[in-house]
Amino acid sequence: MSLNFKNFIKYVEERNPNEPEFLQAVAEVTEDLIPYINERHPTWKDLKILERIVEPERVISFRVSWLNDKNEVQVNRGYRVQMNSAIGPYKGGLRFSPTVNLSILKFLAFEQVFKNSLTGIPLGGGKGGSDFDPKGKSDMEIMRFCQSFMSELYRHIGAETDVPAGDIGVGEREVGYMFGQYKKLQNNFTGVLTGKGKNWGGSFIRPEATGYGLLYFVQCILESLDEEIAGKIVTVSGAGNVAYYATEKAIHLGAKVITLSNSTGTIYDPDGFTPEKLTFIRSIGRDLNKYPKKYPAASFHPDKKPWHFKCDIALPCATQNELNEDDAKELVKNGCKYVGEGANMPSTMGAVQVFHKAKIFFAPGKAANAGGVAVSGLEMSQNWIGQQWTSEKVDGRLKGIMENIHKTCVKYGKEEDGYVNYLKGANIGGFIKVATSMKAQGL
Ligand code: GLU
Repeated sequence: MSLNFKNFIKYVEERNPNEPEFLQAVAEVTEDLIPYINERHPTWKDLKILERIVEPERVISFRVSWLNDKNEVQVNRGYRVQMNSAIGPYKGGLRFSPTVNLSILKFLAFEQVFKNSLTGIPLGGGKGGSDFDPKGKSDMEIMRFCQSFMSELYRHIGAETDVPAGDIGVGEREVGYMFGQYKKLQNNFTGVLTGKGKNWGGSFIRPEATGYGLLYFVQCILESLDEEIAGKIVTVSGAGNVAYYATEKAIHLGAKVITLSNSTGTIYDPDGFTPEKLTFIRSIGRDLNKYPKKYPAASFHPDKKPWHFKCDIALPCATQNELNEDDAKELVKNGCKYVGEGANMPSTMGAVQVFHKAKIFFAPGKAANAGGVAVSGLEMSQNWIGQQWTSEKVDGRLKGIMENIHKTCVKYGKEEDGYVNYLKGANIGGFIKVATSMKAQGL
């Protein structure tokens, strides 16, 4: 008897009740993997490769207690999901957000396994974080929280074991406070975290990497179709690191980016953003409604997502499930041809089906946003050899990695009519190396 998708999902659901995001990520991957295993590697069924790959190697959950500025005791929950170490040490970011729970971290850690494999760098997959909300916290509160978080996490990680980095709510400042605490506790200056500052072990281009990498990937798609990015209309969601550098690179390549957003609403600028306008957006923080006051041709839409403006290319760069089936239909109706995910799983399964049906070229996050973790891998390499490479060198390596990921996706995702199912290509391309390594290393 061969593997059956419905039965497998039922099995995963029974073992992981109330974890909708994790189940969604598993379904999205195994829908492609099961037919592939049945056809090409039937023995992997008896080795229970799939049952093993959906079971984290280790899940750590811990208390984080810290003092706020009023000297009141605060309690949060910290996690690290060590998903898979078949091809290298666990690697993946830390997310600080009140939305964090085990389902979200397991989905992110699961995606990370395939993403990291696709980069071609030997990195396993993990993810962690806390339900701590950094919004409105003072710098000292952030520092005390990060120190307390690391006071427990340090015993579970290491440069050769598990190397966390940033994600939503965790940037260079937070990585710095955590790194400082790790160093104190271990008396050891190592590459235990990536996303470090450039003066203390960080890599050039790491802050830019996810956004730049996304555009390099989109460029590969367009080039494969004899198209070019210059002159294309682009909608971007989000206003964080990924959205910012994706917009910067898109502008640099000659595209016109007309939206950015956050949870308060969407800025629509029909003239397109410029580097100066981007600097202004950075300076207003979360108050995106201030933008039209300075640039009156633009407007702010508190109740609209970017997907309701006409574009050629849509780049969801905010968070999971931000683009649903209705949004996808709207994009198709308005003539959008390409979707590149800068965030992790921003499109719902219904949305992805709409894209595939309409033959929109859809680049899933695990392929298109792999540039961030790829440069984290390069940061680890630089730490091992005690060197710091130039921006040009890192950027060149990043571009090469994104081109290779694109090739892998085409290899495993090209259909008979020439359409490339990038999701299928990324799922299978990312899986093979991990599965063969798990097989080689025994139970
Ligand atoms: N958080 C990023 C991601 O989702 C980067 C992880 C890393 O650099 O380890 O891939």
